Amino acid sequence: MTAGLRLGVLLGDGIGPEIVPAAVRVVDAALAAAGAAPVEWRELPLGAAAIDTHGSAIPGSTLEALAGLDGWLLGPHDSAAYPEPFRSQLNPSGTLRKHFDLYANVRPARAFEGGRAIAPDTDLVVVRENTEGFYADRNTFAGTGEWMPTPDVAVAMGVFTRRAVERIARAAFELARRRRNRLTIVHKANVLQLSSGLFKRVCLAVAEEYPDVVVDDVHIDAMTVHLLRRAADFDVVVAENMFGDILSDLTGELAGSLGTAPSLNASDDRAMAQAAHGSAPDIAGKGLANPVAMVLSAGMLLDWLGTRHGDPRLGDAAVRVDDGVRAAVRDGVSTRDLGGTASTDEFTDAVVARIEG
Ligand code: ATP
Repeated sequence: MTAGLRLGVLLGDGIGPEIVPAAVRVVDAALAAAGAAPVEWRELPLGAAAIDTHGSAIPGSTLEALAGLDGWLLGPHDSAAYPEPFRSQLNPSGTLRKHFDLYANVRPARAFEGGRAIAPDTDLVVVRENTEGFYADRNTFAGTGEWMPTPDVAVAMGVFTRRAVERIARAAFELARRRRNRLTIVHKANVLQLSSGLFKRVCLAVAEEYPDVVVDDVHIDAMTVHLLRRAADFDVVVAENMFGDILSDLTGELAGSLGTAPSLNASDDRAMAQAAHGSAPDIAGKGLANPVAMVLSAGMLLDWLGTRHGDPRLGDAAVRVDDGVRAAVRDGVSTRDLGGTASTDEFTDAVVARIEG
């Protein structure tokens, strides 16, 4: 592709207005270094600020504008702090995943040299199903998927469909083929025989299309133990929505800190970069936020767009983003959560300098 990418910027809440602009700066530097055309950025309202200006945490105008773009960066949101009725509604990232059917949440965990990893040899990717499973609020056309027949009884609905499991399994197997050809299916089919059982059975059926990938399956509870003991043995891990969410927090922490765990939400034709962590309101506005997760997520978006558009310069820029971040941390520049003293801006300056240098 010769024209520049058109990418959305959704700052979000808490530390979002600090880490998302950091990612924009690093992407600009990496594309320039790779000889690719500059991005046309488009900032769109989302989160608490959008409630004030548009009466919605995720305005319809934002959804319409995103539909016309190549992809976007989503900052974290602090939806638990929204006033009612917004707090009880599906949160902005859930809305975006559902609206654009971003069914694959890809969450790599690769340790950093100098990054204080608990398991420094971790190099795996959690592929989390994003549209159904045990997160009940994703499972309904209307309503939340949770209900209370009496004040003392609460019920939540899990949903598993062959179609959704097949496509997440294929995404995971395709990724395993580009990595070390190993895939682990995580489930709880011994107890939840029908729901988690369907997830396991459908993944194993898809496995027959990928005889070159070595497959095993592990119960979710056992998986937490295996990860603590031997994270390095895992390559690609596929799981339903809630299991994948929890596992990827664990793997992110094993590989470094929550502030370094990136993610990409993708369908077959759209993608959204989003850090795995939340809005960290406790440190917002102080220049303490670690932008690494958001920056690496933006790098994943460039890589995805490079594959989609067949443009090697975007893939090259993605590698430069990753290398720039790793070089800065290796050189001892890091934010407080990694034991350093750099502010968000100082760390971003260091990454940009390494990409430009
Ligand atoms: P959510 O429910 O939105 O995921 P949460 O409260 O579970 O949010 P986070 O907002 O991710 O979790 O914050 C958890 C802890 O990690 C907080 O102490 C926060 O300051 C810290 N933290 C999260 N992200 C970062 C970051 N990018 N840089 C530094 N610290 C971070």
